[in-house]
Amino acid sequence: MPTLPVTRTHSALQLLKHAVGGHRNWPQFWRSPEPKPAYDVVIIGGGGHGLATAYYLASKHGIRNVALLEKGWLGGGNTGRNTTIVRSNYFYPQSTDLYDHSLRLYEGLSLELNINLMLSQMGILTLANSRHDVEMLQRWSNAIQVQGIACEWLEPEQVQAEVPALDVFGMRYPVKGAFMQRRGGTARHDAVAWGYARGASQLGVDIIQNCEVSGFEISDNRVRAVHTNRGTIRTDKVGIAVAGHSTVLATLAGFKLPLSSMTLQAYVSEPVKPALDRVINSPMVHAYISQSDRGEMVMGAGADAYYSYGQRGNLPTLEDGVRSILEMFPRFSRLKMMRQWGGVVDISPDTSPIIGKTPVTGMYINCGWGTGGFKAIPAGGDLLASTIAHDKPHPLAEPFSLERFHTGRLVDEGAAAGVSH
Ligand SMILES: Cc1cc2nc3c(=O)[nH]c(=O)nc-3n(C[C@H](O)[C@H](O)[C@H](O)COP(=O)(O)OP(=O)(O)OC[C@H]3O[C@@H](n4cnc5c(N)ncnc54)[C@H](O)[C@@H]3O)c2cc1C
Repeated sequence: MPTLPVTRTHSALQLLKHAVGGHRNWPQFWRSPEPKPAYDVVIIGGGGHGLATAYYLASKHGIRNVALLEKGWLGGGNTGRNTTIVRSNYFYPQSTDLYDHSLRLYEGLSLELNINLMLSQMGILTLANSRHDVEMLQRWSNAIQVQGIACEWLEPEQVQAEVPALDVFGMRYPVKGAFMQRRGGTARHDAVAWGYARGASQLGVDIIQNCEVSGFEISDNRVRAVHTNRGTIRTDKVGIAVAGHSTVLATLAGFKLPLSSMTLQAYVSEPVKPALDRVINSPMVHAYISQSDRGEMVMGAGADAYYSYGQRGNLPTLEDGVRSILEMFPRFSRLKMMRQWGGVVDISPDTSPIIGKTPVTGMYINCGWGTGGFKAIPAGGDLLASTIAHDKPHPLAEPFSLERFHTGRLVDEGAAAGVSH
């Protein structure tokens, strides 16, 4: 794999030089060229999955005549709106292979992209709050261990020792145990988008923001061009990675996707001193929380109960989520909330992603990550890039093709997705 040009922009000498110059001459993180009339590959969507796809096309497959088109700004979709949890503790082997591939890529990514992704493998605990939860979560953690993912079962006393702030014994839903993946944790979402963008740009990819795709030219069932608000761009390979707007793009291309678009919300508190150094998630109480490096408590719960393209939060969902958090952490009741927001997620019938070919020749898709695709950005990009480069699914992507909704070979991760994200 070609290595990125060594970036010497942040050496002590450079920092001093820019400080003297009033910090006015820092180089742009990525180039912003005008779109060319034609490219070998066009990627639609400047979220993490689109950017990672462009980066791996250039770095792993040597395909550099690539345009990445984003209708707004890079990372302005779900990639910049999520709660940054990374983990690979899914249930089925196909999922474990996919998500652990992603986590392993994350573990080397700060070095590869030469940017601090602030990957913090603080450990993620999934709480059991009933006898039935214990049975289900022990089955889940056993399955993961059989698949080679380190994961441990904790009794309530051990949970309390790991998370002193958690009300393990006193609350309405006492903790009966938990399983923990110590390699799980959080990473800085903006840095993931910016790191892939800079890497792709340095390798020759044209990143074009404020460029909305409004249609396709398709003849003989083969894609020929992409229509945008900045003109028509000719290409015979298109990769689509637009999350909650996947069905909109599919409709423009004349095919259907089995996805529902819903809003998922999150909220953060004012920053406080370190009080929580694990990610805590309870499927039964139905909420999750972690503390960011800035000290804010980052919280979320399930997706809104209705379909929507509304990228915004609302009070009932906030109240509901915060009520659940307080069942677990009553001592956080005096925290003031700072911000709340929403993102449009794309949920498939088996809550697993779709990566691969579409019914249109030369058109490929990466979608269906629903509420949990941040952790999958490196793998999603890697597998889509490979599928585009070779015009055949990467082996890890095979179980996640669109075909499975015809054959019935679903990968039903409903329990491992859900509130866990
Ligand atoms: C509140 C919330 C919390 C979450 N928490 C987690 C978590 O903790 N862990 C986790 O793993 N996942 C989480 N997720 C899910 C995760 O954020 C997404 O699955 C992931 O970011 C999807 O990345 P993406 O690149 O596919 O999509 P996006 O980042 O949404 O990027 C898609 C891009 O496509 C662009 N686009 C759309 N239509 C067009 C068009 N016509 N032309 C050009 N561009 C277009 C959009 O503007 C957007 O920038 C969360 C999501 C939300 C909303």
